[in-house]
Amino acid sequence: MAEETNFYEYDSQFRDTISTVDEQGKRIWIYPKKPSGRFHKARVYVAIFLLALFFVTPFIQIDGHPFFLFNVFERKFIIFGVAFWPQDFILFALAFIAFVVFIVLFTVVFGRFWCGWACPQTVFMEMVFRKIEYWIEGDAPQQRKLDKAPWTQEKILKKGSKHLIFIVISLLIAHTAMAYLIGIEEVKEIVSKSPMENLSGFIGLIAFTAIFYGVFAKFREQACTTVCPYGRFQGVFLDKKSIVVAYDWMRGEKRGKLKKNQAPAPDQGDCIDCKLCVHVCPTGIDIRNGTQLECVNCTACIDVCDEVMDKVDKPRGLIRYTSEEQIQHGHNKIFNARSIAYSVVLCLILGLLTILLATRTDVEVTMLRVPGMLYQETDEGEIQNLYNVKFVNKTFEEVNLEVKLENFPDGVIERVGGEAIQVGANALTDATFFIRIPKSQITATKTKLEVGVYQDGELMVTEDINFLGPIVLKK
Ligand code: SF4
Ligand code: SF4
Repeated sequence: MAEETNFYEYDSQFRDTISTVDEQGKRIWIYPKKPSGRFHKARVYVAIFLLALFFVTPFIQIDGHPFFLFNVFERKFIIFGVAFWPQDFILFALAFIAFVVFIVLFTVVFGRFWCGWACPQTVFMEMVFRKIEYWIEGDAPQQRKLDKAPWTQEKILKKGSKHLIFIVISLLIAHTAMAYLIGIEEVKEIVSKSPMENLSGFIGLIAFTAIFYGVFAKFREQACTTVCPYGRFQGVFLDKKSIVVAYDWMRGEKRGKLKKNQAPAPDQGDCIDCKLCVHVCPTGIDIRNGTQLECVNCTACIDVCDEVMDKVDKPRGLIRYTSEEQIQHGHNKIFNARSIAYSVVLCLILGLLTILLATRTDVEVTMLRVPGMLYQETDEGEIQNLYNVKFVNKTFEEVNLEVKLENFPDGVIERVGGEAIQVGANALTDATFFIRIPKSQITATKTKLEVGVYQDGELMVTEDINFLGPIVLKK
């Protein structure tokens, strides 16, 4: 029976405390041992690629327009070079739902793969800031020693230079993040001018820098263990079939030190209780206690344990990517009812999103009757309504538009002031329009009109509106 019992259930006291908080509630600073090994090497390559992507993307332009822009302040969005407007809200909402379902599905099957390999917090923390710390202050024992040491010239120099580099990198990240929000040209302008000339932009950059510096220099793993909502959801997403970084307790227990010139006890497992997997963990946990909310699947414990296994001449993989079911029963079905259900939902949402993207028009029109106004009757025997119209041009070229009444050829649609409709590149134009219909053709108090919007004679979009008229008495 012992074999069938989940090792994690033996002792779950570790779940009552957080590894980074002591009994008095004070923060325990984590000094993780410098990681190395095949997974770490692979993560370094992935991180270099992702960092390059992050820093280079704002400079990519297509015909003078950014490749990506998330200007929430002016509500302008460019994704893969295509302009989106708040009018595309349904697309954003669907894309967001698809993203959430994808994240859930991915997590159900592959656990926190994202956290360990691609999350910006982990990439910057472990691959940039931590690396600089190791370079200047040395490995965990040297860092501990330096922190305990009095403030000598050497300590001031080391700490000072580390934090100076941290601030410079935070400034770089802040400027890049800002470029995604307002565009690289705007950022260049803020940087090249006096702060007083663009105070809000300057304050934004300083605030971003302070946040990034605070997170990576001080807050660190707390962002993952106490703030990140994705981390909080792990208890719901993960099940025994999810692939996570896990300790093979069936193989590792009963753990025990290897004694020189002494054969291990017959019931001793492969874990030699060296605790290196704990020392290397950036969130300070012991993975041998089982899957924990604090584990960001960074793989550092896999690498260090593999190294230990090599030394004691045991097979690698005592800690590895696997599932609880695989460890316990030796087999695992990745696709279970839950993951299949999520996949179906995801496919449906993606299908709908594709249809909406394919049928999305370059020009969008919103036409509403001027509030508070009823109809007017003209001397020529026509009924007239007044409309406010918004034309949105989602392309990067100026467009000249024409409007026509599709279902009332005798009616007239005319811009107040008579100007042509010209909408700038990726811009919005407001206009006011009269619509006049011969009274003899009005058969109801509310008539449905179909307005066609044309560009160079080609119908771009049609808008259905209501036209008010006098009460028509039935004969
Ligand atoms: S590194 Fe491996 S052998 Fe050492 S304590 Fe951790 S699981 Fe056991
Ligand atoms: S337990 Fe292992 S994988 Fe999880 S955060 Fe710690 S070192 Fe990384």
